[in-house]
This record gives sequence, structure tokens and C-alpha cells, in this order.
Amino acid sequence: MAAIDGLPPLREVIATHGLSAKKSLGQNFLLDLNLTAKIARQAGDLSQCDVLEIGPGPGGLTRGLLAEGARRVLAVEKDARCLPALAEVAAAYPGRLEVINADALTLNPLEHLTPPIRIVANLPYNVGTELLVRWLTPPQWPPVWQSLTLMFQKEVAERITAQPGGKAYGRLAILAQWRSDAKIVMSLPPEAFTPPPKIHSSVVHLVARPEPLFPADPAVLSRVVAAAFNQRRKMLRASLKGVAPDIEDRLRTAGIAPTERAEQLSIEEFCALARAVAEG
Ligand code: SAM
Repeated sequence: MAAIDGLPPLREVIATHGLSAKKSLGQNFLLDLNLTAKIARQAGDLSQCDVLEIGPGPGGLTRGLLAEGARRVLAVEKDARCLPALAEVAAAYPGRLEVINADALTLNPLEHLTPPIRIVANLPYNVGTELLVRWLTPPQWPPVWQSLTLMFQKEVAERITAQPGGKAYGRLAILAQWRSDAKIVMSLPPEAFTPPPKIHSSVVHLVARPEPLFPADPAVLSRVVAAAFNQRRKMLRASLKGVAPDIEDRLRTAGIAPTERAEQLSIEEFCALARAVAEG
């Protein structure tokens, strides 16, 4: 049976174009167009936006984004085998889909888009984490993108959205939440994918804050947070010794007890500490 967009069902697309999933490219495809449309809706109203999709594969999420009304989609796919299938999607949505055959880790596709820009992707989780960190650390803030809607391994999604006090709280939570509002908006079991991965997945929606939550120099904050969590079980006066020789004084200036541990500190406290370190 033809799908709502007049294109063949994804199982047929995969069979026609010989798109057997490659493990090396983290290929676990979403074949249910109702599900991909639901993921696309998590990115909000796309009718006035250019959408960057990384890793379209056979085009399930791409079709969801276009059917949900995205103004334009630029899709970057590393696997050239997917291009004929994606060309069929482009033909069904004239002028709205452009596909680039490239590695998203080496190309900066944001230059090819017109703001407002939203990013949506179902990527292999290691590539997703690396791109997330890049998107959260541009030379200027606010960034060119308004929001990121990204599929992650459930544990990674929990690290992005974690609150102080737990094991999941660390560098990723602070980086993500300092500059964006980050929420888990969907959870997917392994069976949602073909082939099913071993892990559960979650979609995280991050909306860029116009300004970071609290003032801090990004490089100093990153150095302090990295040092604190590299030895997360130690008291801060020990784990941060290398950051400044008089770190105990600086912790007190920031209103933090030197005996605290990294995972107890809020983002506000980390920013106060980064300011106290930068003042020296
Ligand atoms: N979006 C499709 C879906 O939801 O069914 C495919 C998702 S699959 C998990 C990941 C996709 O990312 C694959 O199509 C894979 O070829 C592609 N990919 C993997 N690494 C990539 C990279 N570095 N740059 C661009 N695409 C990549």
C-alpha cells in the first residue's frame, strides 16, 4: 500500500534499492512513517524553517519532516547507496529537499541554510554526541540554529538532561543545559528500528537559550567542569588543584565549600566558580 506521500512504503524502498543495514554506519532504520512524523512534530512548527537532517538513510524521518510541512530540508548522508531512494523523496516534494552525500563530521552544512534553522537527526549515537558538542560550542552565542531534535541512546539522553546529585550528571548535562533548554520528549524501544539495536533510545529536544543561563567564559567553564568531573569522587579542593593553586580561596569566593564534590554543584555554582577562577 502506498504511503500518504504517494511514495512506496520504506520496506519496499529498502528492498528496491538494496539498502541492507550496515553496522559500521550505525544503520538502524525507522520504517514506520507515523512514528517518523511524530518525531518530526517534536521539532515544532517547521513551516517557516530550514531543517538540517543528518543521516537520512532511506528517508523515513525525511519524509516525516516534509509531510509535517518543513519549508526546506537539507539532508547530509554518508552512505551513497541511499541517494537514489532520497532522490525519489526529493521528486515527490519539488524544491524542498536537497541531499548532500558527505560525512557530517567533516562538512559544515549550516552554511547552506537560511535561518531560522532547526536540526533534526537520528544518528549513530557516537556521531550524535560529537555533533551535539560542536553545535553547543560555536564561536558565537546564540548559535545559528533554534533547536536540536536528536535521537540518542537512552543513557546518553539521560546524561544530557540530568540534574545535580546523580551519576548521570556531568559535563554533557552542564554544557547542554547552560546554553539550552533540554528535554527528553520521546522514548523508543529497540523494536521501533530495523534491525533492532541492543539499546533503548530517546529523542532529546534542545532549544537554544538567547543567552547562557549564567555568565561565564565558555573556555574557563569547560576547563573547570572537565577537571571537576575527571575525578568526580574527589572533593573539589583536590580535583581542581590543577586549575588554580589557590583553588580553595576561589571556591570560597564562589560560595562553594571546598569539600563539595562535582556532582553536587549546580550549573549556577559552576558558573560562579568559573568567574572566580577567571578573575585571577
Ligand atoms: N534517519 C534514518 C532513519 O531514521 O531511519 C536513518 C538512521 S540510521 C540510525 C543513521 C544514518 O546516519 C544512516 O543512514 C547512516 O548511513 C548515516 N550516517 C552515519 N554516520 C554518518 C556521518 N558521519 N555523516 C552523515 N551520515 C552518517
